[in-house]
Amino acid sequence: MERFQMQIESLSKNEEFARVVVVVFLSRLDPTLEEMEDVKTAVSEAVTNAVIHGYQGNGGIIELEVTVDGAVLTVIVRDTGTGIRDVRRAMEPMYTTDKTGTRSGMGFSFMEAFMDEVQVESEPGRGTTVTMRKKIGG
Ligand code: ATP
Ligand code: MG
Repeated sequence: MERFQMQIESLSKNEEFARVVVVVFLSRLDPTLEEMEDVKTAVSEAVTNAVIHGYQGNGGIIELEVTVDGAVLTVIVRDTGTGIRDVRRAMEPMYTTDKTGTRSGMGFSFMEAFMDEVQVESEPGRGTTVTMRKKIGG
């Protein structure tokens, strides 16, 4: 098992950095292009959520943990921001708390579609931990 951990500033521009780092780590598992795209999208959605919802654009630290165990990739994205009151509801397709009309509420749905497993633990005022798993190579 190999594990990689890093902390990034909660900034939109760091979302791409997180995505690239995870994919480089993932490349050890010899993924297909499709698998790489799937993982990139899922990481991107989770980190974007931490930046815009978790820290509401006010800055903070996002913890990223990537583990490769056999053929299974696990990505954990953790923030200590606002947290989510009703996780089940937040994960429903098209549910969003965004008032500006720019968000579609599909982030969690994409994570679930592109990864094998998505777990969300959250507590209001304490933050959110998103754990995503995907077996690489069918
Ligand atoms: P989209 O991802 O399509 O741009 P969205 O971010 O609103 O829209 P989801 O990613 O599915 O949709 O998230 C649903 C809701 O869950 C968000 O609107 C927000 O209220 C809440 N949420 C998600 N992640 C976090 C987080 N890290 N901290 C606090 N709230 C969150
Ligand atoms: Mg989102």
